[in-house]
Order: sequence, then structure tokens, then C-alpha cells
Amino acid sequence: MHYDENNVFFKILQGTLPAKTVFEDEDCLAFDDINPKAPVHVLVVPKKPLATFGDLCEEPVDFIGNFFKKVHLVANTIGVSDGYKISIHNGASGGQEVFHMHAHILSDKKS
Ligand code: 5GP
Repeated sequence: MHYDENNVFFKILQGTLPAKTVFEDEDCLAFDDINPKAPVHVLVVPKKPLATFGDLCEEPVDFIGNFFKKVHLVANTIGVSDGYKISIHNGASGGQEVFHMHAHILSDKKS
């Protein structure tokens, strides 16, 4: 779908809206969810402007695979690699509220 820059994660990526960053590299940024649904709730956001998971799936397989490897690297970095849940909402009817594609990492506690 069309990528609309008027979304909060674009502003966080641009540095115009603050966030508690836990990981950053050339491909993605990860930060704490502002309204955590678990003791650990981190959002992993690719830097590429992709609106939805469906748009991510239009990318080359290497790009998609690297994103998921990055999610696990973030889980390692924040100390939950032994146990966590990944959640991705695709589209408004799938519960997506922010239209810059992202993966949620949720965990009850750090290992
Ligand atoms: P979605 O439903 O789109 O998959 O999830 C959006 C998530 O972004 C929600 O869990 C919500 O709490 C979080 N969120 C919304 N606005 C902000 C914000 O300004 N900063 C941060 N850190 N998280 C946000």
C-alpha cells in the first residue's frame, strides 16, 4: 500500500519524535513500545519505508529473511532470546494502528 510519511514511526526514525531506543543499525531501529502489553515490549522497525507486512513480503527474500534475523538479534540484545513472542499486525482489520511495518517482541521477563 502507499506509504504515508505522516506516521509516528517515521517521525521516530527521523529523530523528530523521541523513543527509548534499544538497538539500531543500518537496517532497523528497535525501541520500547509506549504502551507495553508485556513486561518486555519492543518494536522492531525496518528503516525502509514499508507500510505493511504485505509490503515487506513484496521485497526480495533476502531482505525479508534479514529482517527476521534482525528481530532475533534484537531479542538477544535485550536479553529475551530464550523466550519471546513475535507479533505482526497486517492492515487495519488485522489490528495495525501504525502504518510503518513493525514486529512486536513480547516477553514476560528477561532471561
Ligand atoms: P500496531 O497495532 O500498529 O501493530 O502497533 C502499534 C504499536 O505502537 C502499539 O503497541 C502502540 O502502543 C505503539 N505506539 C503508538 N504510538 C507510539 C509512539 O509514539 N511511540 C512508541 N514508542 N510506541 C508507540
